[in-house]
Amino acid sequence: MSVSLRPALEATIAKTELARVESPRGFDAIVVGAGASGGMAALQLTAAGLDVLVLDAGWRDGFLQAPLRTATAALVRNIADPRLQTILPPKLVDYGTRALKLMGRLHQPVQTRCFAWPLAPDSFVCDRDRPYRVEEGEFHWFRTEQLGGKMIVPGHGRQYYRMGPRDLHPGDSLSPAWPLDPGELTRWYQDVEHLLGVTGEAEHDIPPERQVRPNASEQDAIIRIRRRWPTVRPMIGRSAAPLDSLGLSAAGERLWVRQGAIASQVLVDEGGVATGVRFVDRASRSVREARAPLVFLCASALESTRILMASEPPAGSIGARSGALGRHLMDHVILSGEGVGGALPGEPVENTPGRCVYLPRLDLRDGAVDGATQTRGHGAQLYRWSIGQGRSWFLCNSFAEMLPSPENRVTLDRERRDAFGLPTLRIRCQHSPAELARGEDQGRVLRELGEVFGVKFTRLLAGPATPGTAIHECGTARMGEDPANSVLDPFNQCWDAKGLYVTDGASFPSQGAQNPTLTILALTARSGGAARA
Ligand SMILES: Cc1cc2nc3c(=O)[nH]c(=O)nc-3n(C[C@H](O)[C@H](O)[C@H](O)COP(=O)(O)OP(=O)(O)OC[C@H]3O[C@@H](n4cnc5c(N)ncnc54)[C@H](O)[C@@H]3O)c2cc1C
Repeated sequence: MSVSLRPALEATIAKTELARVESPRGFDAIVVGAGASGGMAALQLTAAGLDVLVLDAGWRDGFLQAPLRTATAALVRNIADPRLQTILPPKLVDYGTRALKLMGRLHQPVQTRCFAWPLAPDSFVCDRDRPYRVEEGEFHWFRTEQLGGKMIVPGHGRQYYRMGPRDLHPGDSLSPAWPLDPGELTRWYQDVEHLLGVTGEAEHDIPPERQVRPNASEQDAIIRIRRRWPTVRPMIGRSAAPLDSLGLSAAGERLWVRQGAIASQVLVDEGGVATGVRFVDRASRSVREARAPLVFLCASALESTRILMASEPPAGSIGARSGALGRHLMDHVILSGEGVGGALPGEPVENTPGRCVYLPRLDLRDGAVDGATQTRGHGAQLYRWSIGQGRSWFLCNSFAEMLPSPENRVTLDRERRDAFGLPTLRIRCQHSPAELARGEDQGRVLRELGEVFGVKFTRLLAGPATPGTAIHECGTARMGEDPANSVLDPFNQCWDAKGLYVTDGASFPSQGAQNPTLTILALTARSGGAARA
């Protein structure tokens, strides 16, 4: 959480010395990762009166340790600054950005492909230090290492949607039902939306924390869409600024936060009970251990699974018994387009982060029948803002569910180690023929929307972007009713290790078409409640 560390959090970080982290006193709970899920876990557990240690990998090398990387990052951040962009000639900005991206690729060949990289290059991992290998297909694994995780990257979409009964209990053979009653999540969704202060319109007939009315430009968009497709139900997207959960937790005295702590293994005793976490301390480059009977793995979907796989209790990787560990990797099938349109009603319209018109189930736009295909439809998030001289910018992201396939998976490569000596991941991920066919319909939608809004596209994807591009990766340690085919129980506790919870997107049995973070937060809050009961 870069510049805005609250004083209480700074004091918390300062008090978390290695001697306390490793002391035999231990903690009541350890949370691995301080992103969306880790922050929520820390908030829940400290509020329940537990002493909680958060271990987060985030670390900034100084200029002397990484001169080229830090200098490039500083230049990239400056050139992405809108104030500078209004002063410099556009061509210079364009050439400068391209040149710096090329330099960035030396250390971050994957991360530079993320649209948000120029806004915060040093929030993203160094791919040279933390590599992975794609075995088959393609996968962009975008990762940040910092307090606040991906949620605080500038350019974050800030979209928060609930999964509905149809997503959680689909009643078809395309994915398993989630091991919970859909109504069970309602209370946790409400709590989280309240903390976030979600604004927008009602979804599944449920109002957000603060309802907003469409402005003139949004009203115009809604009218145009309804005129073109009377069956589509556009709504104002549900958005919120990032939640400073660690800042909130630090206000009590029960939080400890260690940065630059890369968790390598969960420790489990012979009785199958979690006892702590082993980690590499970046400052001293040494291997350390912290103790607690409760461990929350919240390092983001694939990293949490990597840690499970690398943990080696006497019986092998934790959670591997069912054969489901590492399988059912998903990321939304995403297509996007952007370009220039005409003046907007109510000019000038600001580019307000998170504010958009959401078009759920656009696959049903011409009266198509629900469930007629082997896929679950798609929705789109539509952004428009003024760019002067009677012109506007149009940006649309279309998201569709990737179904959980056992073939899309990660495995542990013990031969290939990262810069800290940790085993790395091999990833296999491909779109199915049905997903590719549906991607064609998503592309059609983008072109049709372009016609509706009179947009001249400057970028329009012809087919689904490389898996991982949506940055909504989920699955690989799914929850379920049966230890024979799942890694986690219905409360996200590992079947193989009492006291070990995995509450990030790794736990999703399927992903719906909604952006995942609200559900990650709700699941984490629910597990926090279960763990302390
Ligand atoms: C540009 C962008 C836009 C997005 N827009 C949206 C959106 O509009 N809506 C939405 O729902 N989602 C969106 N997402 C995705 C969303 O941010 C993620 O779903 C969410 O952040 C996942 O939370 P997490 O806690 O699982 O992981 P993260 O936020 O990635 O946090 C993981 C944390 O774990 C730490 N960590 C990693 N490895 C280790 C380790 N080995 N040991 C210790 N700590 C470790 C990291 O430092 C980090 O703090 C977006 C993502 C990006 C990058």
